[in-house]
Amino acid sequence: ATGVVDGAVEVVLAQPRGFCAGVDRAIDIVERALQIHGSPVYVRHEIVHNKFVVDDLRSKGAIFVKELDEVPAGALVVFSAHGVPQKVQDEARCRGLQVFDATCPLVTKVHVEVAKMRRQGLEVIMIGHAGHPEVEGTLGQSPDGMYLVEDEEDVARLQVNAPDKLAFVTQTTLSVDDASKVAQALRERFPGIQEPKKSDICYATQNRQDAVKLLASRCDLVLVVGSRNSSNSNRLREVAERLNVEAYLIDGAESIDPAWLEGKQTVGITAGASAPELLVQQVVTRIKEMGAVSVRTMDGLVENVSFPLPKGLGRKNADGV
Ligand code: SF4
Repeated sequence: ATGVVDGAVEVVLAQPRGFCAGVDRAIDIVERALQIHGSPVYVRHEIVHNKFVVDDLRSKGAIFVKELDEVPAGALVVFSAHGVPQKVQDEARCRGLQVFDATCPLVTKVHVEVAKMRRQGLEVIMIGHAGHPEVEGTLGQSPDGMYLVEDEEDVARLQVNAPDKLAFVTQTTLSVDDASKVAQALRERFPGIQEPKKSDICYATQNRQDAVKLLASRCDLVLVVGSRNSSNSNRLREVAERLNVEAYLIDGAESIDPAWLEGKQTVGITAGASAPELLVQQVVTRIKEMGAVSVRTMDGLVENVSFPLPKGLGRKNADGV
């Protein structure tokens, strides 16, 4: 090959990487809704934070909107995997919209925790990133008594009504290491603060971060396939970078700058939970064109999590219905 890479450059793929069960289900919900009900199907917010996925569904007849006031009366609307505030559920009901809720069950689990904690008279602190739709959805599970902290400085500054009646939850896609520091700061400042029995950070986030750590320890460049607005993809890039490995977040093969590969020997590739495997394979092909000689996948966890579709969208039966 006449590529930019010299010598025997090796490509290593992280395991696991890419789609999680919540993303798989959310995309399925939009596709099934389109198959059964036909276009248009409205989707509130990007169904998952991936440009390729959103463009693909748009071409199949999905219409993406920011808020429900853009959805005509009586239409069918899908809520994104990130979840929605209670008031959006209420508004949809009031307006008689037909809703298919693609909120990931692991996000719903956090919503249920919040509701239970509020019923017990606890105020709830969420560890998360301001402005992310999952954070807006989770904070929006209660009209009051909710606080957001992003980091340890926020914990130090936080003013609550009753420091002895507190609990915390987290966004599902945080850096495991950062979140545990913020959680520790909360426990120190508010001894007795209650917390979920099992971390709210989901299995997919945890597994992809564990895998990219292993990957980064063996590579001198890490490429993370994922979109700019994807929280868990950004975290994967950060994890690699913190291990002093050059790392880039890319939407796909077209975003690779050949200069990144100069002088590199092992290029690691992973993908965020919302990035399709097709894009990973296109990245591999591109790097081979640049001169890479071998591609292998790291040993790692094989996930077999899947979530059922909502009622009315179940798998096709033999009659195709
Ligand atoms: Fe669900 Fe985790 Fe996937 Fe988010 S990243 S959709 S919480 S499984």
